[in-house]
Amino acid sequence: MADVDVTERYNAYTGLRIVPGVDDPVPAAAALGLEPPRFCEDCGRRMIVQVSPDGWWAKCSRHGVRDSTAGERR
Ligand SMILES: [Zn+2]
Repeated sequence: MADVDVTERYNAYTGLRIVPGVDDPVPAAAALGLEPPRFCEDCGRRMIVQVSPDGWWAKCSRHGVRDSTAGERR
């Protein structure tokens, strides 16, 4: 198992595993940061998503909470 790099990533909006070299569709609203993710990027589990007036947070049962302020990127 030495040379196996298992960095699994999942599409936060579709829950599909991200395959290198394969185009990963992200909804337009999601790309703008308007749409909260529904799946954990680390494990692909469906997260508990809560939208609030100032953003959103989403909770993975294994990886905890992430929110719109912490994951901000432009
Ligand atoms: Zn997770």
